[in-house]
Amino acid sequence: MRHACKKISQLASDSLDRPLSLLERLKFKLHLSMCSHCRDFDHNIKLIHKVTAMMHTTDYGQTRLSEKQRQQLHNNLNAIK
Ligand SMILES: [Zn+2]
Repeated sequence: MRHACKKISQLASDSLDRPLSLLERLKFKLHLSMCSHCRDFDHNIKLIHKVTAMMHTTDYGQTRLSEKQRQQLHNNLNAIK
């Protein structure tokens, strides 16, 4: 992983916990526009965040993913490995 990508992936996970500053957002968007690796990473981390948040807010038995969402999640998890 390139040094810039490391920083960007850190920003991607930070953005889930806190709002990014304007400068950080600019750097982030600029890098994502050039780097497909980080675009995928950002997409995946947000998806996982969404799913885990969903699992925490609903009873496990009531968590319902549509077939399409399940398929998408599956594909994304495979992409990370
Ligand atoms: Zn990158």
